[in-house]
Amino acid sequence: MTDFTMKTDADGVAIITWDVKGKSMNVLSLEGWDDLDALVDQALADDAVKGVVITSGKDTFAGGMDLNIIAKMKASAGDNPAKGLFEGLMKSHGILRKIERAGMEPKTNKGGKPIAAALPGTALGIGLEIPLACHRIFAADNPKAKIGLPEIMVGIFPGMGGTTRLVRKMGAMAASPLLLQGKLNDPKRAMQAGVIDEVVAADELMSAAKAWVLSEPTIVKPWDEKGYKMPGGAPYHPAGFMTFVGASAMVNGNTMGVYPAAKALLSAVYEGALVPFDTALKIEARWFTNVLLNPSSEAMIRSLFINKEALEKGANRPDVADQTVKKVGVLGAGMMGAGIALVSAKAGIEVVLLDQKQDAADKGKSYTSDYYDKGISRKKATVEQKEAALSRITATTDYAALKGCDLIVEAVFEDLGIKATVTKAVEEIVGKDCIFASNTSTLPITELAKASARPDQFIGIHFFSPVDKMLLVEIIKGKATGDVAVAKALDFVRQIRKTPIVVNDERFFYANRCIIPYINEGIRMLREGVNPVLIENAAKLVGMPLGPLQLTDETSIDLGVKIAKATKAAMGADYPNDEVDEVLFWMADEGRLGRKANAGFFTYDDKGKRGDLWEGLAAKYPASDDQPDLIEVQRRLLFAQVLEAVRALEEGVLEDIREGDVGAILGWGFAPWSGGPFSWLDMLGTPYAAERCDALTASYGDRFATPDLLREMAAKGQTFYGRFGAQKNAA
Ligand code: NAD
Repeated sequence: MTDFTMKTDADGVAIITWDVKGKSMNVLSLEGWDDLDALVDQALADDAVKGVVITSGKDTFAGGMDLNIIAKMKASAGDNPAKGLFEGLMKSHGILRKIERAGMEPKTNKGGKPIAAALPGTALGIGLEIPLACHRIFAADNPKAKIGLPEIMVGIFPGMGGTTRLVRKMGAMAASPLLLQGKLNDPKRAMQAGVIDEVVAADELMSAAKAWVLSEPTIVKPWDEKGYKMPGGAPYHPAGFMTFVGASAMVNGNTMGVYPAAKALLSAVYEGALVPFDTALKIEARWFTNVLLNPSSEAMIRSLFINKEALEKGANRPDVADQTVKKVGVLGAGMMGAGIALVSAKAGIEVVLLDQKQDAADKGKSYTSDYYDKGISRKKATVEQKEAALSRITATTDYAALKGCDLIVEAVFEDLGIKATVTKAVEEIVGKDCIFASNTSTLPITELAKASARPDQFIGIHFFSPVDKMLLVEIIKGKATGDVAVAKALDFVRQIRKTPIVVNDERFFYANRCIIPYINEGIRMLREGVNPVLIENAAKLVGMPLGPLQLTDETSIDLGVKIAKATKAAMGADYPNDEVDEVLFWMADEGRLGRKANAGFFTYDDKGKRGDLWEGLAAKYPASDDQPDLIEVQRRLLFAQVLEAVRALEEGVLEDIREGDVGAILGWGFAPWSGGPFSWLDMLGTPYAAERCDALTASYGDRFATPDLLREMAAKGQTFYGRFGAQKNAA
């Protein structure tokens, strides 16, 4: 079976069609590369062929590359993976360069056959890098199609010529959002940006591409002509100089220097811009090899691409019949309920949004209206989409409206008694198959399920705020929760296009369990006299999106106080955080409740813009003369989180380390460059990690005590993915 086939029509245009059997979207495999290579050779050698159109047999062009290509290239050179990769990449460059030169005379640029790319829809990654090597790119006018190079999002960069060609085609400045942020465009925007050349009606795609091929067009790429100058200027041109100086500062500012791919991309662009095209490709291949061998890139690809996708496809879904949700009842139309109603309606699910007062229910529904208004003003949504979503939401106070719901998501006040009352009230109305889910952040699901007549149909579906932006949903199994409820929750999360993790019911579940110690460690350091500027910057420099103090401001100090009081009441004498509470309670007494009060650890102006750290902190907790090293602060902040993740695994809260890693990055932004807590520990090596824990325990106490599991793994020299990855089929 071949992924590419070729047919030459009566006019002498060879149509190469990419159609990988059994896949909804084309992905490039090593065999596919060979097929394409052979067909291009054949077309170029055949006198009857005047030109070529490369297209797809599907309604999209291609979704990217099969990442096993990289693994195979690495393996091909045995114990010298860098050599295997570099040679594999250069071979790929050879194929694309053959398309680009199309048989032209090297010195005179004479001869050659025009090769067009005809994209019926989405073209991502290598799916755009192949077209970029062609002489003209046509795309069907399909507003749903996405065109771009998203590699940077998973820790690599476009390394099959995309970087070098795009920069030479558009200039470094114009290419930078596409390369450095992985920005995707619909075909019209991609044409405006200069990525593709022509957008035509879908039914004219092939005829337009063929007509162009037969029009005897000029096919020499600008960079293969004498006197080529890079748009916007190369590095030593005055304008180019400004671009490159700015880009370097911007990349380091945005990434804090922790993402190897962004730096390597910039180096490939800068160094490549100083040399002829073929040498630039070689430089791109060297930097790409460098990135692919970096443990951070490997871990990011594993967590953010392979494992994230596996979880979304239901890797841990029990084997029960389809549980697609048709009608969901959302109880409580507050901040969370309003967001849950929005994402459900957006996914085409009928929603009943219920609150105590009609005003509150209506206000919850208006969140969807406001969301679409914003989208419409930014041309990201249409009036029709808004109306369709609103028509699916019934805002009500009447429990009878919940009749026919197959899923309930409860998001009323965080109070066991109130939640129990609504659970009972709902169960009197809904059918006996309906699944009941609570969005509680702190109350045990097993406890809440006691109010239910059907505890096996009771589950936790824990969203993060803001619901429409946060990608993770934590599904919590209570002691009695059954498989159908788990499947229902997973199917719902798939419908609303989020990423699920499934965990067992212990205090704070998984995400909050790990993030609370991070916040607490930051606050402890402040109390000890560590300069808060050091605390916040150390966190950001190790890749955390927010420092612990800023994060506390965002989530609010009073929430922290509330959680602390409830936890202390539950734990009694074992409660370990009195020192943290001293600071939190003092802040609350000072009225510094965080961003919502325009006053917290940081100052805020009238418009809510964050300013400096509050001066009152220095008065109460003066920075000591003897400040710790940056790395020591970072170790404390990271180990505080990571050790909780290990304990969650040890206790069976987590059943799959893939969920631990993906959940950490998507749930609370745990240093994405690391691939997640378990990937990070594997990077350190368990023996070294255990050593660091022992040192931290000696300096700061038992909260850093090495978990038995980590100690055992350290003694055996095991890795987390080695020991727990394989059994779950993790990558
Ligand atoms: P909120 O105060 O904004 O909204 C709660 C809503 O529930 C209010 O509109 C209230 O009128 C309504 N309500 C209260 N009792 C009711 C009843 N008996 N019947 C119907 N409606 C009732 O709270 P929120 O922040 O949206 O949180 C809701 C739930 O989600 C809580 O359990 C909370 O722990 C959880 N949660 C919150 C967050 C967060 O960041 N805020 C994140 C995850 C989970």
